[in-house]
This record gives sequence, structure tokens and C-alpha cells, in this order.
Amino acid sequence: MNISSERVQSLPPYIFSRINKRKKELIQNGMDVIDLGIGAPDLPTPQFIIDELVKEANIPSNHRYSPYGGCQEFREAVADYYQSRYGVNLDPDKEVLALIGSKEGIANLISAVLNPSDTVMVPDPGYPVYESAIHLSGGTSTYLPLDSSKHFQPNFDAVTHDVYNKIKLMLLNYPNNPTAGTVDLDVFEKAVSLANKHSFAIAQDAAYDLMTFGGYEAPSLLQVPGAKEVGVEFGSLSKSFNMTGWRIGYVVGNEAIIEALSVVKSNTDTSQFLPIQKAAARALRSDLSSVLKNNAVYEERLDHVITALNEMGIQVEKPRGTFYVWANVPDGWSSMDFSSELLEKVGVIVTPGNVFGSRGEGYFRISLSVPHERLTEAVSRMKQFVSQD
Ligand SMILES: *Cc1c(COP(=O)(O)O)cnc(C)c1O
Repeated sequence: MNISSERVQSLPPYIFSRINKRKKELIQNGMDVIDLGIGAPDLPTPQFIIDELVKEANIPSNHRYSPYGGCQEFREAVADYYQSRYGVNLDPDKEVLALIGSKEGIANLISAVLNPSDTVMVPDPGYPVYESAIHLSGGTSTYLPLDSSKHFQPNFDAVTHDVYNKIKLMLLNYPNNPTAGTVDLDVFEKAVSLANKHSFAIAQDAAYDLMTFGGYEAPSLLQVPGAKEVGVEFGSLSKSFNMTGWRIGYVVGNEAIIEALSVVKSNTDTSQFLPIQKAAARALRSDLSSVLKNNAVYEERLDHVITALNEMGIQVEKPRGTFYVWANVPDGWSSMDFSSELLEKVGVIVTPGNVFGSRGEGYFRISLSVPHERLTEAVSRMKQFVSQD
């Protein structure tokens, strides 16, 4: 029975499920597979957040529906977090909305603002969810190239005025998945000035806002004067607090954009379980020492992988954020062939760069979400593979 809609049928094949299928087969055949493809922390959620969840779960009034936009406690915690971390003032009632993970919010935002045939600009390479959500909403994607020679900052000058005039929304994502690129505030200033000049909106995906190294602190889009007139920023507890399965995030900024999104959401969901929101509020109000501890673990893994890659002749600069390493495949390989041979021959999964867009071709992504010993084993197998090639 061909029940799928044309939009669903015409979605590009989800390469991650193909890799997972092959992974299962190889494991069944007895291979020891190390998966460096998973974009989720392996570390546990900090205990104080779990304790708060358990405490709140024991309170019967927390078993009811949450208010649509999230509970007051969570929205105020997000507003206070923006005040203390970024010096940004937010009205918790109108400028903050709770999300069931930021992926949900990004997808619903796109359907909340797009008319059929509207165009959205997405980073290339970029997080595949953006383009699928645009496709499912009947919109068209256009690309903002990231500049490999400038830490994968957007190359705003590579896009013509006509294209800027045509777009309704620009998506940004810093610190960046998959490239690990980071920016300083001037990049967001430039984006806001383009948005004003060409009347489009901006959505900045800050899923890795706290995952940074070496003294670097990622700026917020909303620190740009006037950013709230044109933009919103998505945040997530998933990566910084090891809470991917909990499904809790938020969007902050422009009131009209948030209102549009909340109309879609109030017709499709009824927000997140209250104890999860309250535990997340506790996390955002914490001193963030658990985040710093995690970051130290990732940085140690990062240094290890970068050293090993450089020894293999794969030159990578140390990134300032995320838990990804984005590297060139060795000469003569395509991203896809390199990744699948690496899996078939030595049992190591990396993500082929081309799944993130045409400018991802020639790259692969390593996720630092496995323990040190496994990472050591994985890079030594990679070394062996690359030297035999
Ligand atoms: C992981 C990730 C998200 C999704 O986060 P959730 O809050 O778990 O939905 C969003 N954007 C990017 C770029 C990510 O890597």
C-alpha cells in the first residue's frame, strides 16, 4: 500500500538508517563496531537534575497537563539564564517558549512561518533536519555556504541580493554541527543587518551554546542590538546537560515569531511533562559546573583525536566548540566511499560529510561521544586503514 504523501515519498533517503542497518549486520557477523557517528553525549545526566525530576514526579499536581507554552518556572529560568549569561532581557511570558526538544521547535517553526513556495536559507553544510522540515512544509531551501578557510563562518558575500530579497527565513547554527565552526558576535551583527535590509527573519540554533573549549564562550544572537526585532534563538538541554532522551528545549526572542510557533504547537502538542520542565529549570539555574566538567572530558578526547588525525596526515585545526571533529577525507576518496570502507574494513563508523549538504562532500565527521579507550581503539584502526590505502 502506497500510503505516504508525495512530500514524504520525496524526502531524501535517511542515510543514518542505512548505516545503522549495516552496523547491525556487521555486529551480528561478529565484528566489533565502534560508532563515532552518534551525535549524542555518552555521559549520564548530572545527578542533581535526576534528583529534581524524581522529587517533582512525586507531586500529584505535576501529573496534569502543562500550560501550552511551558510552565512559569521553566520560562523564568530560561529568561534568567539569558540575563546572567548574555546580559539579554527577556519577557518570560511573551519571549520564551518551552519546546519538546529543539528539533520539534525548529520543524514546527518552519511550518508556522512558511507559505507554499516560500524560501528558507540553510547553512551548507548543515543539520539535515532543517532541509527536511522545509521540504515537509512545502517550502524551498536555498544555501548559505560556510567558509572552510574561516572556521566555517557563513560566507554572506557569496549570496546575491536577489536571493536575500527572496528568502523569508535564514537558519544559522553556531557552534556548528557538523563543522564544529564557531563565530564571534560580528557574524551575528552582519546577519541582523542583512535581515533588516532584506526583510527576512533569523532563527539561530544554539544547541551547542555551552559546549565550548579553551576559554571561548559562544555569543547569543540576541546580544546584537535589535536582534529581537528580527530573530529567535533555539536552545536545548540535550547536549550540554546530557539530556537527549528527556526532550526539553526552548526558543527565545521575537514575540511575533514565538506567537506563530505557539499557535502551531498548541494545536499539536501540550508541552512537556512538568517534572521534566522543572528539572530542566534547575539545570539552567545551576552554576554550570557539570557542563564544565563534561567539556573537560570532551576536550581531552578532542586533543587525542586531533593528534592522531594529524599523525595520519589529515590536518585538522582544533575547534572551539561542539563535540565533533570535521576533517577532510584522504586524497582520492569520496565521503561516502571512505566512510563505508572504513566501516567494512576496520569497523569504525564516521558520518560521511555529504549527508550534510553538497559542501560537506570531501569531509567526514567524528563524534566524540565514546569513552577514551574506545576512541583510542577507533583512531588506531583508522591509522591502520589510512596507511594501507
Ligand atoms: C542535537 C541537535 C539539535 C536537537 O536537539 P534536541 O533539543 O535534542 O531536539 C538541534 N540542532 C542541532 C544542530 C543539533 O545537533
